[in-house]
Amino acid sequence: MKIITLPEEMNHTIQELKNEKKTIGFVPTMGSLHEGHLSLIQKAKRQSDIVVLSIFVNPTQFGPTEDFNTYPRDFEKDKHMAETAGVDLLFHPEVDTMYPKGKTMTIKVEERVDVMCGRSRVGHFDGVVTILAKLFNIITPHHVYFGLKDAQQVAVVDSLITHFHYPIKLMPCDTVREQDGLAKSSRNIRLEEDERKEVVHIYRALQEGLVNVKTGEECPEKVAKNIEDYLKKNLKLGTIDYVEVLNYPDLSKSKKLMGRFIMACAVNYKKARLIDNIVADLHEWR
Ligand code: AMP
Repeated sequence: MKIITLPEEMNHTIQELKNEKKTIGFVPTMGSLHEGHLSLIQKAKRQSDIVVLSIFVNPTQFGPTEDFNTYPRDFEKDKHMAETAGVDLLFHPEVDTMYPKGKTMTIKVEERVDVMCGRSRVGHFDGVVTILAKLFNIITPHHVYFGLKDAQQVAVVDSLITHFHYPIKLMPCDTVREQDGLAKSSRNIRLEEDERKEVVHIYRALQEGLVNVKTGEECPEKVAKNIEDYLKKNLKLGTIDYVEVLNYPDLSKSKKLMGRFIMACAVNYKKARLIDNIVADLHEWR
């Protein structure tokens, strides 16, 4: 595995590989790797000749009161995990390299962000797409891999690729979970012991919502209300940020579920904000 920190060197290396007709699969991350990230790498390995992993904690996607400074970082461990997983190129740039003159140019996202995390974390997705545009330009991948754990991010990246005409195929990947259903996340290590016991209810609440739909409920508001009621009954330590049931991937609201939809929620704990969702399709049962 080759570690690269400079955009020019990465771009040059990729051009050489493309001259050899290699296909490039790209997995962007903020590091602190876990099995969720590894599942993306494995999928990329099956579908591309070369797998590029980026590790970059992107400051512009964190709000002023968010955890940029304390975001978990362990590059030595990540390096070992990436190499073991079969990553070919690891891109690990400095903040000053990616933002040479500070934050002077930003892409503003105007669709799919007035709901869910976009509403709670104003400007977050502007930071996400700004760094992704830079990374896409440097790495010029054929395929890019994102986890559906961050389903709104997948929807926004889908828009980015369309609006900016990137010749990149978006590959959404299923959420990897702990045995008790908790979605794996770099932030889970921040949960206290009693919080860790409680958070199993987050996925269970979403599963309740799914049962609700499967057994005939088609009103998104009612499904959301049932999920919220379940959470309120079972959460003693966490506070609900949002519960939303929307069409997917456009994240629009409707009075009745139509085809693909998302049931999503976010819950705040003392030192961690957890998000989870289920994306499903009404046509699976109707
Ligand atoms: P992050 O390092 O948190 O920015 O995540 C990098 C990528 O890994 C994103 O595409 C995430 O959606 C994905 N990811 C994070 N957690 C999981 C998980 N539990 N299962 C699948 N993908 C995940």
